Amino acid sequence: MKRILKLLSIICVYFVIFFKGNATEKIYSSGDKKIKKIALTFDDGPNTSSLSNILDLLKKEKIKASFFFVGNRVVLNKEEVKRAFDEGHLVLNHSYSHSNFGTATKDKVFSEIENTNSVIKDITGVSPKLYRPPYGIITENVKKAVSELGMNIVLWNVDGEDWNKKRTIEQVVSTQEKETKNGSVILMHTQPDKNTSYEALLKLIPYYRDKGYEFVKLDELLDIEAYKN
Ligand SMILES: [Zn+2]
Repeated sequence: MKRILKLLSIICVYFVIFFKGNATEKIYSSGDKKIKKIALTFDDGPNTSSLSNILDLLKKEKIKASFFFVGNRVVLNKEEVKRAFDEGHLVLNHSYSHSNFGTATKDKVFSEIENTNSVIKDITGVSPKLYRPPYGIITENVKKAVSELGMNIVLWNVDGEDWNKKRTIEQVVSTQEKETKNGSVILMHTQPDKNTSYEALLKLIPYYRDKGYEFVKLDELLDIEAYKN
């Protein structure tokens, strides 16, 4: 199912890019290819142990990352959101319910994004300007909602499929190593039921450092603002 959604999301993205001349300006999936910088991004939190492990590791390694959190999980795990923000990571928007918005109305998408911004702002004091759609699905209604909220969409160009229960840690690591280039936005997840992403990171961080990549947050990689003024 997730593979179908992934394929659908890619088709949707290209449909939008192909048919809407100026639509691409607000959809980012990578940064400057001339500079040896990459951004680690983590979707689907906040969700206890897996996120805590990743935050501990990033702290130890002095790496700042970008987290796309789900609103209905934010209200249940406020301390983790506060911790991620206080430790210098970006706290960004991944919808309120993590639904498939393929057929959703603009109003539905708008309220999901707005509610998530609101619960994040209650904790951090800032309102995210960057939105990552669940499953990467972008429709005209998603675009309109994001645009009316004065936000931008951030996708990715590296996906080791750490969310896929059939993938081993070695497979996740190997795909990420192959796909990563200068300016890459790397998609990873914090998972409630397993630690694949954390275990993969233990191998990937030394690999990326050995290749000379610098870890930066999305606002630096893409040269855009992460939060609304
Ligand atoms: Zn997600």
